[in-house]
Amino acid sequence: MIAGQALVQTTRHFFPEFNPWLGRLPDTRDPDARIYTTGFLAWWGIALYLLQLGSRRQLDFELRDGGAPVLANFNRLAETEQTTLPVHDTLDHFLEHVALTGWERLRTQMVQRLLRMKALDAARLHGRPVLLIDATGWICFHRRHCPDCLVQRHGKQTLYMHQVLEAKLLGPAGVVVSLGSEFIDNADAGDRRGKSAEQIKQDCELKALARLLPRIKKAYPQLRFVLALDSLYGCGPVFALAQQFGWSFVVTFKQGRTPALWREFQALLPECPENVVKREWKGGCVQEFRWVRQLDYKDSAGRSWKLNALECTETTTATGERQYFAWLTPLPVGVKTVAEIAQKGGRYRWKVENEGFNRQKNSGLNLEHVYSIDPEKAKAYYLLLQIAFILVQLVERGSLLRRLAEACGRPVWKLFGSLKNVARRLLESVRFVNWPEAWFDADVAGQLRIALDST
Ligand SMILES: [Zn+2]
Repeated sequence: MIAGQALVQTTRHFFPEFNPWLGRLPDTRDPDARIYTTGFLAWWGIALYLLQLGSRRQLDFELRDGGAPVLANFNRLAETEQTTLPVHDTLDHFLEHVALTGWERLRTQMVQRLLRMKALDAARLHGRPVLLIDATGWICFHRRHCPDCLVQRHGKQTLYMHQVLEAKLLGPAGVVVSLGSEFIDNADAGDRRGKSAEQIKQDCELKALARLLPRIKKAYPQLRFVLALDSLYGCGPVFALAQQFGWSFVVTFKQGRTPALWREFQALLPECPENVVKREWKGGCVQEFRWVRQLDYKDSAGRSWKLNALECTETTTATGERQYFAWLTPLPVGVKTVAEIAQKGGRYRWKVENEGFNRQKNSGLNLEHVYSIDPEKAKAYYLLLQIAFILVQLVERGSLLRRLAEACGRPVWKLFGSLKNVARRLLESVRFVNWPEAWFDADVAGQLRIALDST
């Protein structure tokens, strides 16, 4: 019951304009032949991921043939008056007729609203929003599926795959909000003769990044992002793009990527013994930060850069186990800033991998499932997943769900056990509970206090 209420009120609270946005999606279906409105079908598609159904067919099994309240609940959600429920092919047909830019615009509208509400501000670094950048394999086949497949050979096996580069905005409480997606395909690899797999990967991701960043700048011209980047992106062209847009960056510093710079860093460290901060954590972990300011770096195009280098040695007291990390950044590094830069700009980058890709792959969100064999439609499903996952996280990590659970006399973790169960309870709720009109009151939802917290 409370999962349904949390979903409805969270959506109404954060996105009071959500249904009008859906209504304005560029839908090229023949208006005279439309049985279902754009908003209703958009919600139907989002539900595929919100309820973590895992495949399109499950929409038919779990929802269409589900309980009697399903139609009424979706009509209230979408503010429509449909008289029947669609089959999953209807959704597929609809996605064929909505331009990808429509879904991208919807996501931008959501992110801009979260920014205006300052809902993600607690995770800022020196007052600047942090963008975590990473790429992942997305759909993969054993036979060529389209002319644009990236081809990878693993021993005797040849894989045909598609990749995507994601920019995710860091929020508090482990929330990562998808803000930009750039699909990587064959054209990005260029001439692959004489190139190692690592070089091809590098070419692909750098080209995709060079397309993605200008699109983000256009959608968010005012924001002064800090990019959190893997060592792969630690190169002149990326630094130049960031500088051109007025952004900063924190990039993983690896010996192999820029050997001369690494040697200089190691040589200068002993000469700045005063540049050290130690932190002890309750769980028995000690972090030691050291840094060197204003290292000179000349890139392959002859541009000169001044970069600050910082390192963090993390020791687990009980086991003596040590981990070492290092980063490069133009941000001012000092006693007061070093730990925050290392944490938000550096250590949190794994969140894209963990909270983003792993969660999306190893759950009912089923990121690697081929929702459509058509490459363009598959991209639409990918974007729908990202949009739904924003809602999923706001429900799961928002204080409303916790408050509703407490009102039932139980802490939220006892009520749900694990996050996976939130989706299952939501499915039960939408199928068997007639969602009361009061939940949908936009004024009531607007006045709720919903914070993102990690408890
Ligand atoms: Zn393909």
